[in-house]
Amino acid sequence: MSSSPFRLCLLPGDGIGPEVVDAAVTVLREVARRHGLALETSTHLIGGCAVRATGKPLPEETLQAALGSNAVLLGAVGAPEFDKEPPARKPETGLLAIRKALNCFANLRPVFRIAGAGATPVKDEIVEGTDFVVVRELTGSLYFAEPRGFGPERGWAQNTMKYTVEEIERLARVSFELARGRRKKLTSVDKANVLETSQLWREVFVRVGKEYGDVELSHLYVDNCAMQIILRPREFDVIATENLFGDILSDEAGVLAGSLGMLPSASLGGQVGLYEPVHGSAPDIAGKGLANPTGAILSVAMLLRHSWGQEQAAQQVERAVRAVLQRGVRTKDIAGGGAAVSTGEMTQAVVGAL
Ligand code: NAD
Repeated sequence: MSSSPFRLCLLPGDGIGPEVVDAAVTVLREVARRHGLALETSTHLIGGCAVRATGKPLPEETLQAALGSNAVLLGAVGAPEFDKEPPARKPETGLLAIRKALNCFANLRPVFRIAGAGATPVKDEIVEGTDFVVVRELTGSLYFAEPRGFGPERGWAQNTMKYTVEEIERLARVSFELARGRRKKLTSVDKANVLETSQLWREVFVRVGKEYGDVELSHLYVDNCAMQIILRPREFDVIATENLFGDILSDEAGVLAGSLGMLPSASLGGQVGLYEPVHGSAPDIAGKGLANPTGAILSVAMLLRHSWGQEQAAQQVERAVRAVLQRGVRTKDIAGGGAAVSTGEMTQAVVGAL
């Protein structure tokens, strides 16, 4: 065992969050054991369960635990009982607050397709073999930049699309590094035919790209990219884009995977990485053993790669998930009405395939 254990902060949250976090940690413990890696976990409240216990969606104790850890694994937050509560008592407020506190400026969302796993409206011959990552800038532009707000009597409203060179450059570096470790193709997505922010975005990507001669950089306008993701998804490797474009494109791309339950994510850039499946708390299936743990399990593969520096272990988890899916093991959401296994059975299948 290595001397200082990796400190993982677990935030299971609400609904199916605890079920999928439990699954992911089971896989992580097993892969850590096999690689002789020491893991130390602590579990804390976030979201609706935190509001019930403390009145706050992100208690100070949780925040401090997250900041003092090497990485955070989050399940999901949200429950219908909080729908009419003010923002300070909404579970989702806790999620936004922790993302902000951890200063994660780069959101990585891999999208991949295993034939027959779940339903996608795109034809199999187009979508099969899809395997790319959307890198979305997460802390700038329209969602955060000032000025923003309403004018008198809500006669107008505004948001500001603004990027500094520094903000673009750090996102570019994360994207080039990622591409370098994959198929070495980076598509930078902008709207440089219309927007000055996009022209600056493109300039900075071209400049940073000179340091990454082994990575092939190309540019697409966002409207064209939205079409190409559906028409030729296999041609993408890494897509890097600004906040709003990335929000939209990553959800569009998610459709290719067959179920929300398949998709992992990582938010990087600060001292502590945040890993979470893309899906929400799915109250409709919570507590029934129906949750697909794949997104959460692949999130710990990303954690192994980006926060723990354990590339081999990360690949081992990814290969195990693929092998299980290729063998036809299916949770209900991706079974297309056929035979389905429970969350626990899916998890054990992955552990067995490691
Ligand atoms: P959702 O992602 O929870 O569920 C959408 C649909 O997908 C549901 O039918 C659900 O059963 C299914 N689904 C989701 N994850 C699945 C999985 N792992 N396995 C199988 N099926 C899965 O989105 P929603 O219903 O719009 O939101 C429910 C709650 O989650 C709301 O309170 C919302 O605010 C919250 N939410 C949280 C996050 C987050 O924590 N990151 C993200 C989105 C929504």
